[in-house]
Amino acid sequence: MQDLNVIGVVGAGVMGRGLAQDLAQHGHKVLLIDTGKDILDDAVRSIRQNIRAQLLMGKKNGGKSADEILSAVVTSTDLAVLEEADFVVENATENFDIKKGIYRQIDQICRPQTVFAANTSAISITRIGSLTKRPDRILGMHFMNPVPMKKTVEVIRGHHTTTETIDTAIKFLSQFGKEGVIVRDSPGFVSNRVLMLTVNEAAFLVHDRVAPPSDIDKIFVECFGHKMGPLATADLIGLDTILYSIDVLYESFNDSKYRPCPLLKQMVDAGLHGQKSGRGFFEY
Ligand code: NAD
Repeated sequence: MQDLNVIGVVGAGVMGRGLAQDLAQHGHKVLLIDTGKDILDDAVRSIRQNIRAQLLMGKKNGGKSADEILSAVVTSTDLAVLEEADFVVENATENFDIKKGIYRQIDQICRPQTVFAANTSAISITRIGSLTKRPDRILGMHFMNPVPMKKTVEVIRGHHTTTETIDTAIKFLSQFGKEGVIVRDSPGFVSNRVLMLTVNEAAFLVHDRVAPPSDIDKIFVECFGHKMGPLATADLIGLDTILYSIDVLYESFNDSKYRPCPLLKQMVDAGLHGQKSGRGFFEY
């Protein structure tokens, strides 16, 4: 099996920056791509802050400083640098048209044997695979947020994904201490087919004034023993990403049970995107 040392990370938002940090801390060279220098600078700043916070809390990082770890992260707005990548994880905005443009380009740029993992919340992996000439080397890798703290990853086998590709993906994950749970391709997979409905219904409860967000979450935390309620989870994920994912489920299944809550749409239009914007169902 080929070496997986140089990792392309496309998208430097919530997920891409967490992934880049985790990979760099495990000794990988990371090629981190986004559309603007400002976004990439912000990603590097937040990775530095996170590593420093971890060092203060006693994480050793093999004696390396934040700057030494960050020296393994190369940032660029040009997908062409991915020519060097042994493995690519795509974490761009949850929008099929955006992802389409990226896959069409990286299929031309990257070596034929390079595997692409789509970190998507709900989009069909088979549909993403169809954008390229390598559907056998494409799979879904649904990382959990925050990436450096979550060991388990939902791994999705698309219609054409080969066993060799799945083996490569599992090897890649093991290189930074992660385990995969392999599921078959279906929009939303296992996790988000359940989670997005729960979050959407919790938003309807706020919309219908049944209870305020804090009480809704309190019932999940204190009665069911969940670590976080559905609305705090939505704020952590990003309400824009939640809305995109519910829209994908709605379009994919043509089933009205996935119709997005109007309050969620209004909050996204108002810029209340959750933790990343400072306000969602709660304030940060
Ligand atoms: P985000 O909005 O924080 O970041 C997306 C990034 O993609 C942005 O920085 C944007 O500039 C960048 N981007 C857009 N077009 C691009 C292009 N053409 N080339 C390169 N970069 C581009 O979103 P996120 O929360 O990081 O989510 C990224 C992906 O991961 C989505 O598909 C999402 O569904 C999935 N995901 C998110 C979570 C979560 O908790 N947020 C969890 C698992 C999976």
